[in-house]
Amino acid sequence: MSQGPLEQFEKFLRHRGRNVTETRRKILRAVLSHRGHFDATDIWESLRRERVSIATVYRTLDLLEEAGFVRKVRLGKAHAHYENVLAREDHGHLVCRSCGRVIEFELGRIRASLERAATKEEFALEKVHIQGIGLCPECAQKS
Ligand SMILES: [Zn+2]
Ligand SMILES: [Zn+2]
Repeated sequence: MSQGPLEQFEKFLRHRGRNVTETRRKILRAVLSHRGHFDATDIWESLRRERVSIATVYRTLDLLEEAGFVRKVRLGKAHAHYENVLAREDHGHLVCRSCGRVIEFELGRIRASLERAATKEEFALEKVHIQGIGLCPECAQKS
């Protein structure tokens, strides 16, 4: 049987010489239950009863990003948004650099050409992340 995300994360933490705490496990579970985009506050609020500090949520999200479970989606001036990599099909993001809005799109032919390139280079492609930065229609109109 293949390893579940919890086991994988524990292995990652031990490899880094970090403790596998119950809090980190709870944060991972909260992250895995999110299907769309979320920020640290969403995770923190869903764990309000657990008395987890927001700083711990941020630090654990960094670890989860390093471990490949989440990806930072939003790069704009607003605080970072994340998404659970495991729950989603690969897709692209168009990120508005002014308001931080994120528009998702299907990769279609982009995915196919990446796969062709990977095959040519004998590269074991696992995940694809395509992100375009620019202005959404509303912000483009204002500027
Ligand atoms: Zn915008
Ligand atoms: Zn997304």
